Amino acid sequence: MKNTQESPQLSSIRRFYQQAFRHYDKTGRIPPVSVELYPYAGINHTIRIRGGRAFVRISDVCVDMELEGQKALAFILVAKLYRKRAASVHQETYNAALRTSDIQRRAARTKKTRGRQTPLFTEGDIYDLDELFDDVNAKYFNNKIERPLLTWSSRKTYRVLGHHDATQNKIVISRSLDTPETPRYIVEYVMFHEMLHVKHPTLTINGRRYNHTPAFRADEQRFPKYHAAERWIEANVRRLKRAAKRK
Ligand SMILES: [Zn+2]
Repeated sequence: MKNTQESPQLSSIRRFYQQAFRHYDKTGRIPPVSVELYPYAGINHTIRIRGGRAFVRISDVCVDMELEGQKALAFILVAKLYRKRAASVHQETYNAALRTSDIQRRAARTKKTRGRQTPLFTEGDIYDLDELFDDVNAKYFNNKIERPLLTWSSRKTYRVLGHHDATQNKIVISRSLDTPETPRYIVEYVMFHEMLHVKHPTLTINGRRYNHTPAFRADEQRFPKYHAAERWIEANVRRLKRAAKRK
């Protein structure tokens, strides 16, 4: 379940970003800011502007980083957006805040459990997996699926179009679908299928593992273009294979 209540800490952090925008944006236009903690592997933070809104993701490893450090980080990230360097005092404050043993310990642990620091590629040439996930989550799951790690596959796989890795809580979508020839509903369908794996965890009965339980299969039929999507995949698998071989 997604926690929609913003914690007091997150709202202070959000104010730091507004301050930072006020500092760096000479036009005085301060975008609305969303801040969330994100399960990156290791210490990593991102900021991007989409539809006039700033989206900030702070590594959940830094969940209890002192507010001074958070403020410094806000100035560092916003400066980056404006292709500027934050004042060195911010860099020093941030580095000092990172040096606490809790953060270092958690960072080391997430690097281990969240994969060999495989970089995530969410923004494809055509489709943005973050945006797609949010859309599918809203349309078919009432926003109830907690955001897993999302990434395009590094290679253009054509047999496996999507994969849910339960140990890393990661959804991988085949890069072979990130082309103008792929209708959006196909990528949504693959995302939808992988999100069903989050909703219906693997059942183990007498040592046998069941990924696609009857409940899973019944749920799958809720996708409005289920049959059209299956037909499209069948009709295009050879083309995807050729495209994969070309690369
Ligand atoms: Zn499956």
